[in-house]
Amino acid sequence: MSDKKAIVFDIQRFSVHDGPGIRTTVFIKGCPLNCLWCHNPESKERHPEIMLTESKCIGCGSCVSICPQGAHTFNEGNKHIVKRENCIFCGKCEAECVGAISMCGKEMTAEEVLETVIRDKSFYENSGGGMTVSGGEPLFSPDFTYELLRAAKDAKLNTAIETSGFAKWDKIERILPYVDLFLFDYKETNPEKHKEYTGVSNELILANLEKLNAAGAKVVLRCPIIPGYNDRDDHFRAIGALADRLDCISRVDVEPYHPLGRSKCDGLGIDYPLGTLSFPEKETVAAWVKTIGSYTSKQVIKS
Ligand code: SF4
Ligand code: SF4
Repeated sequence: MSDKKAIVFDIQRFSVHDGPGIRTTVFIKGCPLNCLWCHNPESKERHPEIMLTESKCIGCGSCVSICPQGAHTFNEGNKHIVKRENCIFCGKCEAECVGAISMCGKEMTAEEVLETVIRDKSFYENSGGGMTVSGGEPLFSPDFTYELLRAAKDAKLNTAIETSGFAKWDKIERILPYVDLFLFDYKETNPEKHKEYTGVSNELILANLEKLNAAGAKVVLRCPIIPGYNDRDDHFRAIGALADRLDCISRVDVEPYHPLGRSKCDGLGIDYPLGTLSFPEKETVAAWVKTIGSYTSKQVIKS
């Protein structure tokens, strides 16, 4: 295995939402999209980041005295200020703190990640599970993702990748032999709205989905539905039409909006673009699933 590295911000064991069976999901930092509703804002930047949970801060000042970069200060109103631009990711403040500071992201090789993933091999075998690579956008770290998937396949693990599909085709083509399932996001049908909501056009994404279909890949289409943004009938119809047209799509997963990114944005010191938008009602989500299901012969579920 090569020593290609990526910044990994979580390795979630015993996951049951990221593909079949019991899985370990590897979250890689770095994403070329900027979705308004992103629930993992700590995944956007490639580099490690400091997350501060102000409610847990007891004001002891240890971070202020330990930081070699002067990144932690308290202003006159006793508000904790983090100058993130000063941070060199040494981790000293996290080590001193009672739990208000956490470092998001750690540089790892594919080999190191696989060492953790392989520990639960017996659970994967008994449940039909395996490893899922997620992010961020795993294809934004293409060499690392390729190495990790290839190594997982060498170890005879079932593999899945959660992707926005926004990557050059050669990056996707290269991993094809090592991926059992693509969990492929479909966020918005209208190209202008797609750009407005995610920062990029959906042209490349759709072209890649067509190519995956031609290559005989297995795809679950994952559709985040955000009230007031893409909960429109024309989008629902397009999801159904796409699922029916492409043989590679075995199922459509409706992913209802949840505002969990908000507190993470607070911790990272960045604005949350969707303000106070809250969880959709259960009945609303059920209606989305039913409506999309009425436009396709493929299975549609709430994920
Ligand atoms: S070390 Fe932790 S608890 Fe102490 S002031 Fe810094 S953030 Fe707050
Ligand atoms: S990680 Fe190191 S440089 Fe960054 S804020 Fe903490 S102590 Fe300072």
